[in-house]
Amino acid sequence: MKNQDIEIYLSRPDITEQEIEAVRSVLMSNDLSSGPKVTEFENKFAEYIGRKYAIAVNSGTSALFLCVKALGIGPGDEVITTPFTFIASTNCILMADATPVFVDIDGESLNIDFAKIEDKINEKTKAILPVAVFGNPVGMDKVNDIAKKHNLFVIEDSCEALGSSLGGKKAGNFGILSTFAFYPNKQITTGEGGMIVTDDERLTNICRSLRNQGLKNISGATVYERVGFNFRLSDINSTIGLVQLTRLTENIKKRQQVARWYQDILKNETRLKTFSATEDCNLSWFLFIVHLGEKYTQKDRDKVMNLMLKAGIQTGVYFAPVHLQPYIARDFGYKDGDFPITEKVSQRTLALPFYGNLSKEKVETVCENLKKCLDVIDS
Ligand SMILES: *Cc1c(COP(=O)(O)O)cnc(C)c1O
Repeated sequence: MKNQDIEIYLSRPDITEQEIEAVRSVLMSNDLSSGPKVTEFENKFAEYIGRKYAIAVNSGTSALFLCVKALGIGPGDEVITTPFTFIASTNCILMADATPVFVDIDGESLNIDFAKIEDKINEKTKAILPVAVFGNPVGMDKVNDIAKKHNLFVIEDSCEALGSSLGGKKAGNFGILSTFAFYPNKQITTGEGGMIVTDDERLTNICRSLRNQGLKNISGATVYERVGFNFRLSDINSTIGLVQLTRLTENIKKRQQVARWYQDILKNETRLKTFSATEDCNLSWFLFIVHLGEKYTQKDRDKVMNLMLKAGIQTGVYFAPVHLQPYIARDFGYKDGDFPITEKVSQRTLALPFYGNLSKEKVETVCENLKKCLDVIDS
């Protein structure tokens, strides 16, 4: 379907004149990359999360991969993670030639089922990589308890959870290294971009070196001390992030309002269930997700998505089970049924249009159409 036929998009970034002006002034300066805006963005971001250090990189995927590398995880090592996530949180393990070991999710929280983690720990296990799915950091404290008991690292994927908190503690404080992402559908965007946060100075230096060709962190010296990458974030991107960060609290409120409209309108619709945060979590909404009822199949879900698109409304699949993606299923021998909760949730889930500037009127249109689509399936 051509873009001009879509009336209500799944996601829209929230860009104002302020971002445009900020980019303009960076473009007029002499520092297009690795200038003052990167450092300022890192400092403000670390302060917002409440951690000592932040390392800006060019994507959330790069952030995750650098965490794995900085911890010295590689061939022969295992990292425990969830199969119900965006593919990057498994790819970062594979990119380091380490082995992802999946643990199925909890059917309510949709995050890794911490009660099943210990069964998968052995002498090869080096880290646990939990994901705050749809922005909900629930269970991160429990994962940390388990990691501490077994002397494992926690790499926290909070790429969907900027602004969320659990028991008063902000997402981004639950890993020795924690990651964020700034793709346009996230709570703030830099176009592309990512951030690592940590309190560990040694790991900070390794991450800074890895993102910049392995360069040693001594000014004046040109010594490369390891194989590094070019994962630098530019000043152009960083200046957008700085402006976005000043509007984050306001944008989180706008997104909350949109989520409430959806919840209100859909609360009596018994054919589906909406995603909401667990009690101890203050959710910074990432997506608005609905789970179709038990009687519906994956085919029904796909049909709903097609009918919605015909009505000009874009919806999304979150997530395709990671263990069943062809290269992972092939290399590790996974098959249907290996992680049944992930598969069941995945088959009946769809994401509705969701962003801070979505109007109440459009939310109503989406819900009316969704009900109509279910009527068609039911008839
Ligand atoms: C967005 C996201 C990432 C990072 O994605 P990039 O597109 O590389 O910035 C990582 N993990 C999860 C769970 C995400 O949603």
